[in-house]
Amino acid sequence: MHKKAIVIGSGIAGLAASIRLKNKGFEVSVFEANSYPGGKLSEMVIDGYRFDAGPSLFTLPDQVEELFRISGKDPKAHFDYIRLPVACHYFWDDGTQIKAFGDTKKFAEEVENKLGEPAANVFESLRKSAFIYDHLAPLFMHKSLHRFGTWTNKVALKSYFKMGKLGIFSTMNKANEKQFSNPKMVQLFNRYATYNGSNPFETPATLNIIPHLEFNIGAFFPKKGMHDITLSLYKLAMDLGVKFNFNSKVEEVIVRDRKAVGVIISGNSHYADMVVNNMDMVNAYKTILKNEKQPTRILNQPKSSSALIFYWGIKKNFPELDLHNILFSENYKEEFDHIFSKKSIYSDPTVYINITSVYKSDDAPDGCMNWFTMINVPNNQVQDWDKLIQEARKNIIQKINRILQTDIEPLIKVEEILEPRTIESRTSSANGALYGNSSNNKYAAFLRHANFSSDIKNLYFCGGSVHPGGGIPLCLLSAKIMSEMIEG
Ligand SMILES: Cc1cc2nc3c(=O)[nH]c(=O)nc-3n(C[C@H](O)[C@H](O)[C@H](O)COP(=O)(O)OP(=O)(O)OC[C@H]3O[C@@H](n4cnc5c(N)ncnc54)[C@H](O)[C@@H]3O)c2cc1C
Repeated sequence: MHKKAIVIGSGIAGLAASIRLKNKGFEVSVFEANSYPGGKLSEMVIDGYRFDAGPSLFTLPDQVEELFRISGKDPKAHFDYIRLPVACHYFWDDGTQIKAFGDTKKFAEEVENKLGEPAANVFESLRKSAFIYDHLAPLFMHKSLHRFGTWTNKVALKSYFKMGKLGIFSTMNKANEKQFSNPKMVQLFNRYATYNGSNPFETPATLNIIPHLEFNIGAFFPKKGMHDITLSLYKLAMDLGVKFNFNSKVEEVIVRDRKAVGVIISGNSHYADMVVNNMDMVNAYKTILKNEKQPTRILNQPKSSSALIFYWGIKKNFPELDLHNILFSENYKEEFDHIFSKKSIYSDPTVYINITSVYKSDDAPDGCMNWFTMINVPNNQVQDWDKLIQEARKNIIQKINRILQTDIEPLIKVEEILEPRTIESRTSSANGALYGNSSNNKYAAFLRHANFSSDIKNLYFCGGSVHPGGGIPLCLLSAKIMSEMIEG
């Protein structure tokens, strides 16, 4: 008889957990509240324009490939992607443009030519980033921080001696100001804090680990779009025999004798030997675990930023735009003060435009483009969102018109909006935060929920709101860390 596992939620981590547990010999059933898999990693199609709804930047593709490999399949036959020659195209109001070439030598030349920033500073910064990665990734990304063994192994001991060089005692902004002479370079490298919804003026310089992922390892794009990560993993799970139940919102985790033994859906009990929760941890404790002991300190940690996205079908081709484009704010500090302190939206926000039709031409009609136009915004604290969104739309359009020397409004053929309230309602993410807790202090990593419950046996956690954090690669790693704790 196979042991049974129930997974709550089919976000990217829930899919990965189901694949890993199936490979361990469990009979796996996934219960998903929505009618589709993928959670935040979904897509929408409007009048011939296809949009990846959530994540747009893809790093560490080997985390996806590993799921095929452990299932005895050749990843390339099921999921294909390219490495981007240009990770991002940056624009400023004064007309400066920088291409972040995937080839770091070319990128260093570009910033030396256009900004007068010595190429050596770029190489040094990326060397430091790789150093942080080499010392911290094996510990913080690949292991549970909540197991004694993690802190006594060789890798951990090596890191203790390098503590001073890992950026723990400085902020990302301070480290970047020290590293670069040109404020535009500081701004460009400060932007990496947004990759996990944090504030570069507060988050520890340890997060300077992120440029290593994008420059040294690479930024990638799945040939069929980001949503193909969801589709290919969903298909893999189905082929392995995982059972999916959609429109099945879990109402309660059944706990008996301090053990998770099943879930309740529409009043019916479903039993299993273990339960894996992929639902946002904060909302899980508020709903399906509401009768259990609450880890109050962890639940009360400040949340990451959220996003306001306009999905625009644009009736024109802009050849100067790439897959990822950033139109920088003139005052980055003020923008982050608005997001994290004032809980509002700055009048000159940094605008991110993601256009998958640059690489996948069938994502938009001929001569048109699919613009995923996003700004970082505070998480939902019941602000007057309708008013904020209206003002932000006006400011975003003005910024695009200024920088691209265009009149964008008449070119918008279709429009759909995603904002903190809808992010929260569609995926049950606390406050509509994109990445669970923010990483704005040096203890943040330790104040994320573990991948298991210390109170309830056989209850496990994976996904962006628990260790090691949000974003696709970390979500996939959360499922890996979780499954490594489970005997097959
Ligand atoms: C706009 C946006 C942009 C982003 N950009 C990037 C990016 O560029 N790169 C990147 O790496 N990451 C990005 N992220 C973050 C990334 O999308 C998330 O970290 C990741 O997708 C979260 O996956 P997850 O497995 O934690 O679950 P989620 O995607 O949050 O899914 C959880 C699932 O659980 C289900 N569920 C909830 N409650 C219940 C219940 N009671 N019963 C049953 N099912 C339930 C939900 O319906 C949902 O399907 C972005 C996110 C957003 C929203």
